[in-house]
Amino acid sequence: MRISQIGEFGLIQILKDILSSPVIGDDTAPVHLNDKTLLLTTDSMLEDRHFKRFYLPQAVGWKAISVNVSDVVASGGNPLWVLISLALPDLEVSYVESLYEGIKTACDFYNCHVVGGNLTKSDRIMIDVFMIGKAERFVSRSGAKPGDKLYVSGTLGDSKAGLELLLMERRHYEEFELKLIERHTRPTARIDYTRHISKYANACIDISDGLSSDVWHISRMSNVKININSKDIPISQELRLFCKKHGKNPLDYALSGGEDYQLLFTHPEDRYNPFLDMKCIGSVEEGSGVYLDGRELSASGFDHFKLA
Ligand code: MG
Ligand code: MG
Ligand code: MG
Repeated sequence: MRISQIGEFGLIQILKDILSSPVIGDDTAPVHLNDKTLLLTTDSMLEDRHFKRFYLPQAVGWKAISVNVSDVVASGGNPLWVLISLALPDLEVSYVESLYEGIKTACDFYNCHVVGGNLTKSDRIMIDVFMIGKAERFVSRSGAKPGDKLYVSGTLGDSKAGLELLLMERRHYEEFELKLIERHTRPTARIDYTRHISKYANACIDISDGLSSDVWHISRMSNVKININSKDIPISQELRLFCKKHGKNPLDYALSGGEDYQLLFTHPEDRYNPFLDMKCIGSVEEGSGVYLDGRELSASGFDHFKLA
């Protein structure tokens, strides 16, 4: 049996069974040290898989940190320390300097610190980040309760459109297209939500694989039914323009586009905070499955191993 036959999540299940760990399977692993809850997480960026050599190295460095911060925030925490393992071909030193300028800028922005790392030679660039964060209260994917509302922290689908534009490798892009590209290459983790998530969310996940895939994790792990109203899903003006120009449906991008790094979370309606840009897109009830406008939603997000 090949990995592509069981997919990323089938493989994770097999590894969990071998390790018989009750913790594995959330955005971060919460570990308790004295009276503190530390959050451990790791995510890597691989050349030709997550980025191309022609991308600005500063942006690649920024993103490598941001995608990890996103998981920490989804667990209700703030990042503290980072270790970075780099696998590198024989590049210009200036490339690596620029990469680390991006990493440093991101760490300053999110208020965390690189405290070590490792270097190894390889044919392609890989930036593997291990991050430690801290939470007042760990928020998992498994705490959604019937009666909760489902919220998202910002517009969805922009990153996928940005990636498609980038891969066109055009010489000229319009203003709105550059914004979409920036959302793909230089996403910002929603660290402005940490306090809200840690205080009020019953369940939370960051949208890295796509709404239609990531919402299933909350539904399955919380044993609840989730209803989503498509008309409430926030879609940016830039994505609307992109879809109009290319004859696409923005909803497809919002549902199956990955790497938006927005937060998807649930809590009672009276915890809504008008000072954050959160949008209510659905509700949680007893039962199972995910429904979009009353019809069962298939998990069409990104799986690293499933064949397209
Ligand atoms: Mg995540
Ligand atoms: Mg990961
Ligand atoms: Mg992640």
